[in-house]
Amino acid sequence: MPTLIASIETGQPQFLSNPIRGNGTNQTLLKDAVGQVIIPIRRESTVIGLLLLESTQAENNSEETMGFLSRLSDHAAIAIANARLYTEVQEANLAKSDFISFVSHELKTPMTSIKGFTDLLAAGVVGPVNDAQSNFLTTIRSNVDRMATLVTDLTDVSRIEAGRLRLDFASLPVSEIVEEVVRSTRAQIEDKNQKLTVITPADLPPIWGDRTRLIQILTNLVSNAYKYTQAEGEISISAECTENVWDEGSPRVIHLMVKDSGYGITPENQKKIFQKFYRADDQKVRDAPGTGLGLNITKQLVELQGGKIWFESVFRVGTTFHIIIPIAETA
Ligand code: ADP
Repeated sequence: MPTLIASIETGQPQFLSNPIRGNGTNQTLLKDAVGQVIIPIRRESTVIGLLLLESTQAENNSEETMGFLSRLSDHAAIAIANARLYTEVQEANLAKSDFISFVSHELKTPMTSIKGFTDLLAAGVVGPVNDAQSNFLTTIRSNVDRMATLVTDLTDVSRIEAGRLRLDFASLPVSEIVEEVVRSTRAQIEDKNQKLTVITPADLPPIWGDRTRLIQILTNLVSNAYKYTQAEGEISISAECTENVWDEGSPRVIHLMVKDSGYGITPENQKKIFQKFYRADDQKVRDAPGTGLGLNITKQLVELQGGKIWFESVFRVGTTFHIIIPIAETA
């Protein structure tokens, strides 16, 4: 098709009246086309597509029509370029996810071994351990735990970004989720002599979500509350079933709140805490271990389950995180 080729080569529009039908050189799409316009779609100096218009009536290709078609092709060029970039980003995300999965798998084996042998040494299995050695072993153990958390967090982030995180939805009792979270965080909270209050009404309807991920969400919020609250401070976890007045999602939701009387977040830092790797520049926060990935993962996990997360905080007074998750609809 010489006319199409000419448009690609020159980057100029082509007009053709009385194009040849059938298998001829300028085959038309419409059976009774009497005019053809070919507009190149250009991205910088490269032709990335062609806009082909046919008419069954004799048209005059006025300046106004041509101006319109040329603007249309400019928009098409941007849309095509964006779609291509999007595909490239998705492919890069998948490659990143594969790489992180491989690295985390390779790191897990040596970390398990370090943990195991540290525990054996600390338990005195191969001989008595003095106080200094015991301190060193505690430091090794807590650093390996931090590495393990970082590896798990990185794996989660990359899976979510690559759209590879699979959720297993089920109808779940809220009290069971809360109890599980309290069981795994109570020892740390008691170590800091913090007061924990749990309020979950007995008649709450079940929640619709992924059990493991809901526990992860709530554990993250409670462990932040405990990390960023001074010794003797107060933490409360509460749940209620309520009308959804916050977004367009499910009409009835379970509203969970994790409240602390801790360090709080300055208005400046409040804007950034859901960003990846962000940790407040507050020395009290920096004294506690963390990766700055927890809230980013938590937010995405909440949203993947049709929920919403937000918070309010007053610096040096305390912080309350809120999440809403749809209730399981009864048949
Ligand atoms: P990490 O706890 O590993 O630093 P997160 O993503 O969980 O990462 O939290 C990001 C940051 O948000 C924290 O470093 C801290 O500055 C702030 N933050 C989160 N929860 C609280 C809280 N309950 N009280 C005060 N600051 C908080």
